[in-house]
Amino acid sequence: MSQPTYVGLRIDVDTFKGTREGVPKLLQTLAKHNVEASFFFSVGPDNMGRHVWRLLKPKFLWKMLRSNAVGLYGLDILLCGTFWPGPNIGARLPHIIRQAAQPQPQGQHEIGLHAWDHHAWQAHIDKWDEQQLRRQIQLGVDALTDIIGRRPDCSAVAGWRCDERTVDIKQEFDFKYNSDCRGNALFYPLVNDGEPGTPQVPVNLPTYDEVVGQTVAESEFNDFILNQITPGQFNCYTIHAEVEGGIKADLFEQLLQDAKKRNIHFVPLGRLLELEPVLQQDSVVKAPLAGREGWVGWQQSVVAERKG
Ligand SMILES: [Zn+2]
Repeated sequence: MSQPTYVGLRIDVDTFKGTREGVPKLLQTLAKHNVEASFFFSVGPDNMGRHVWRLLKPKFLWKMLRSNAVGLYGLDILLCGTFWPGPNIGARLPHIIRQAAQPQPQGQHEIGLHAWDHHAWQAHIDKWDEQQLRRQIQLGVDALTDIIGRRPDCSAVAGWRCDERTVDIKQEFDFKYNSDCRGNALFYPLVNDGEPGTPQVPVNLPTYDEVVGQTVAESEFNDFILNQITPGQFNCYTIHAEVEGGIKADLFEQLLQDAKKRNIHFVPLGRLLELEPVLQQDSVVKAPLAGREGWVGWQQSVVAERKG
């Protein structure tokens, strides 16, 4: 048999409903298929409904229709925090987050911080000063530490909205790694005065909502993802508790089964850092990403290569 291919599996949990319903479902599925992964939790107020309404521009509306966002996320998620204050996820659902942090039958998931207020981070990062960015991360780290009884292992900003300031500020929190951007290799970001910082584990594979209905039909999605996984190269994939732990749970379980047949194994992102050395130094820059609104953080060399 060929060499196994290891793919980082990152699970973003953006909302109250995703935490309450998606996470238990995913824990079950992952245990059944003997997979460990990295969970990134949002632990403050769920105002994701505001995110939707703020983005009600023709282009975004088209994306919503194309990807069937209402069917995908549910109308309650899309309205959360819109007409009433959003529920505080960490305060209401600590037992679910703890459940993910506990030892599992198959091993141990990594627990990371996704956001304090996911919506606010995505919407306001450009307006916020460093003090505000730092405060959001601190609120999240403190809440998550209280919930799981230890510091989170790692972090991943909401919506890949990471700029140079964020990379610098994250140094203060001493995570094992950050997964803040899109790119194609593990790298040390250059921080402050050009020193190599906490390793970045970027995401190179697209998410369901970025491609289904546009680049690929749903029925071909799993093959599309698996075909992009190149043996011997860096691979990292993201799912959402709201989607793959919800209406697309069967599709995701099928992906796990199909992956196994190809000798592809999903692992926590931190495992990628154990399996191969970090060889590159790079920086994080803002650039657009197909299928997503606004800019996201990118590994600089990948953007440069694309332009050149
Ligand atoms: Zn997210």
